[in-house]
Amino acid sequence: MVTRDDSGFDRGWASAYHCAPMLTSRLPERVEPYKLVAHAEHLEGLVALAEMTRLAEEIGAQSGDAQVWMDFAIDSQGRREIHGHLEAELQLPCRRCLEPMATQVESDFRLGMVTSDALAGELPSTHEPVLVENEQLNLLAVVEDELILSLPQVVYHDEAECAVSRDQLNSGEATDESASAPASPFDVLRQIKGKP
Ligand SMILES: [Zn+2]
Repeated sequence: MVTRDDSGFDRGWASAYHCAPMLTSRLPERVEPYKLVAHAEHLEGLVALAEMTRLAEEIGAQSGDAQVWMDFAIDSQGRREIHGHLEAELQLPCRRCLEPMATQVESDFRLGMVTSDALAGELPSTHEPVLVENEQLNLLAVVEDELILSLPQVVYHDEAECAVSRDQLNSGEATDESASAPASPFDVLRQIKGKP
């Protein structure tokens, strides 16, 4: 059980939850965020990675769960926000051999609720916008967005474990990295969610 005092909200999430026990319950797919904010609710639970189709487009199909902790609150400026932390073990394709490799991904996030894309521009850079429609928030999409933003750009196996050896690379048999590396697919999402 995680306990927090009044100062806990500003404490680093990584440290606050470093020793948290494994979660066993599932996060609801949809919530009514204004009610959660009004009651300063805390949500925590698992989200199935296999349901994340956009994530699968980036890195291939995943299994297992993301662990997510979220606090709903009104900040000192009167903004409705979600402050949270997530962790997941993903199978990312090695850039050299393209075989999946287990990679731990985690993120601390602070989200500001907006009711239109236009209002997203009014948020400070400390907050990423999340769109609340009809007083509903799709938590699966929120967690998926955060995971995509948290992906490392490039991962490689250790040489000893990689299916493509250094010799193959040096002899030019393997694909040339600089020629094959496309612009990061995450840049688009960063532009959408980032500040101008
Ligand atoms: Zn590899």
